[in-house]
Amino acid sequence: DGYQTVPVFFVRRIVEAIKKVGGVPFVTDNPTSVYNAAYRGYTQETCGCPIIPVAGIKDGYVTKKEIDIEGIESINAGGALLDADAIVNLVHAKGHGNCGYGGAFKNIALGGYSTSSRWNTIHGVVQRDSYFDESKMTKEHLEKLRAACPRDAPRWNEKEKKASLMFYNCDQCHGGKQLCVEADEGKTGWSINPANFDAFQELMAAAAKIILDSFDPAKIFHLNFLLDITPYCDCMGMSMPAVIDDIGIVGSKDIVAVDTATLDLIAKQGVNESVLKKIPEKYMRVNPDLSADLHPWQLIHGPLKDPYKVVKFGEARGMGSSKYKLIEVLSAEETATMEPPKHVYESGPSFY
Ligand code: SF4
Repeated sequence: DGYQTVPVFFVRRIVEAIKKVGGVPFVTDNPTSVYNAAYRGYTQETCGCPIIPVAGIKDGYVTKKEIDIEGIESINAGGALLDADAIVNLVHAKGHGNCGYGGAFKNIALGGYSTSSRWNTIHGVVQRDSYFDESKMTKEHLEKLRAACPRDAPRWNEKEKKASLMFYNCDQCHGGKQLCVEADEGKTGWSINPANFDAFQELMAAAAKIILDSFDPAKIFHLNFLLDITPYCDCMGMSMPAVIDDIGIVGSKDIVAVDTATLDLIAKQGVNESVLKKIPEKYMRVNPDLSADLHPWQLIHGPLKDPYKVVKFGEARGMGSSKYKLIEVLSAEETATMEPPKHVYESGPSFY
């Protein structure tokens, strides 16, 4: 429910371009985003086409798809999305608490499925690899770990009487002393296990492949908007500082290439240090050494949230190539030498 999403200005232009070549476009997203779309400026009138929930009105219009990752056997793909003949993946490139980066893979992998698959199955995969001995964990002991963690990541579920780590919050103490592990004193074997972080990225790649395999490869397009690059995804529904300056828009028919190029461009741009330094620690802790040899998303979300993992899993599954060639369209140099448009102020209805 945030406002830092793909600007409707661009959505409208893409919709118009699709209509111009004879297409009948619609915009789709999860049910909540569709029902609240008008609050963020997306309406049929502004987009120029209908806005349809990805899995129908009650999130039940789905196709069960088989998958074999970490014991997960199936996930429910959104029926409205699968009804489309072509897909233009409009992506707000930004950070993500679980994996460092949310881009083209994340947009398809999480946006393409029903709510239960998205939240319980795909997000829930981080809990699959054991990282403590449940039989030795008590509520009191968990509270000790929680008190030690500045990110409030160890959690106790009173209903299920179970402990868990909220991977989204955990920044792995940025490679320093892991305060929760220290507080555990070996009692439950509590650990920060890299496999849990990787499982989410592998499942994202597999889930995105299922959706993309449903389309003719010639009818798949990805557009990553590297604008208003916030540290977390828009689901948080709050305004966030742009921690990386605007870069532009990256487009490709290859999902591996588009996300690799986006990550490389973000790495080249680097973090906006003056913005990062103003963010209170309660909200986000960043690596104390901003010159460390890590990607900007790792400096923000921790070294185990390697944003390139998802593209590597995708490339290994034959989804595309990380070897790309950037062709710059309308560079600053090019636009500086262009004939300026014959500008007419207030060319529409005007009262002066
Ligand atoms: S590693 Fe650090 S941030 Fe993560 S749960 Fe432990 S104390 Fe919290």
